[in-house]
Amino acid sequence: DAMEIEKENKVEKQEISGYEGVWVLAEQRNNKLMDVAFELCSEGRKLADELDTTLSAVVLASNIKEEAKELFAYKADHVYIVEDEELKDYRTETYTSVICDLINEFKPEIVLLGATHNGRDLGPRISARLDTGLTADCTKLAIDKEREILLQTRPAFGGNLMATIICPDHRPQMSTVRPGVMEKAEPDYSRSGEIEEIEVDISDKNIKSHITDSGKIINLKSDLSDIDIYTTIKEIIKEAKGSVNLEEAEIIVSGGRGVGSPENFKLIEELASVLGGEVGASRAVVDEGWIDKAHQVGQTGKTVKPRVYFACGISGAIQHKAGMENSNLIIAINTDEDAPIFEICDYGLVGDLKKTVPMLSKAFKDL
Ligand code: FAD
Repeated sequence: DAMEIEKENKVEKQEISGYEGVWVLAEQRNNKLMDVAFELCSEGRKLADELDTTLSAVVLASNIKEEAKELFAYKADHVYIVEDEELKDYRTETYTSVICDLINEFKPEIVLLGATHNGRDLGPRISARLDTGLTADCTKLAIDKEREILLQTRPAFGGNLMATIICPDHRPQMSTVRPGVMEKAEPDYSRSGEIEEIEVDISDKNIKSHITDSGKIINLKSDLSDIDIYTTIKEIIKEAKGSVNLEEAEIIVSGGRGVGSPENFKLIEELASVLGGEVGASRAVVDEGWIDKAHQVGQTGKTVKPRVYFACGISGAIQHKAGMENSNLIIAINTDEDAPIFEICDYGLVGDLKKTVPMLSKAFKDL
């Protein structure tokens, strides 16, 4: 009967009192903090102030003590570091296990991660293990002051509407945010603090989640010699020199279907090179195979926020705009004066990119 159904459907409530503070899992590569760590600290500060609580940044690395001090300038109240040679590079199980222990110990009410390759791997594992929710790829975070709850907004239904998601009954409330989405605040170097080192016995952290034949998840402790039955990172290959770094680029010159052919991408590459920028692309040209997916900007590509974004032969579909509309200055070149890209650009050039792009390259070269 109805009562029975209601009972069955009732999500088991967790004891959520006692969770306090905002945490940022600050990601590092080669013991250097990534920009997204500072962006999340800047955003985390606002949330912590709204909740009248503290902001903590947490870094797992092998040698990060000096570098981590920078997090105080981005307004963290506490900086926790866990240092171990095993934590130099991201390892799914080791990182998940260490962070879950820390969350169980400190009980933060909010945990923010970058929606980077690693963050996207780590976030769901932590939330599953802690039996809480996770909202991926948030574009806006805010606090509902009355309920003291995190409002997590992200695009839904192919980017056609924005959904605000809450996690009312479980803690921590977890969100991932793509690099470049949140504004990095001006650092305040007058702020400083003591780095708090946390000792973790890493040798105990080779705990694997293993799905049994019956579909149940069991945790088993094993040493690394058992590793071949699990997915693990075998080798980390350094990014090739000259590879795309759209998220941190100051200038991006992007080409769309209007470029016309893979050969014509040379025009886009040339303008990018003259300006010292990176080459971006719409999904249409990635799908055509004219350029590698690493260049794609948009909802299913990279979210970028350069100082200047050139959109050449790009119509301005909502999914493309989702990845670039926060750029500081947008310059659009399109033959169709009614193209939607002109609604969001700062400067618009109606014309054939095959003529205008080489003219711009020449003009900038001559400067
Ligand atoms: P078109 O829409 O075909 O536009 C080409 C433009 O070039 C036109 O405006 C035309 O007037 C102009 N043009 C033609 N010739 C010239 C010329 N000689 N000089 C100047 N201008 C010229 N798209 C993305 O970009 N990124 C994403 O991450 C992304 N994710 C998606 C996710 C989902 C779930 C879905 C459904 C779609 C996604 N898309 C994404 C696709 C998106 O909807 C559009 O199809 C795509 O952005 C169109 O690319 P475009 O602007 O290059 O091509």
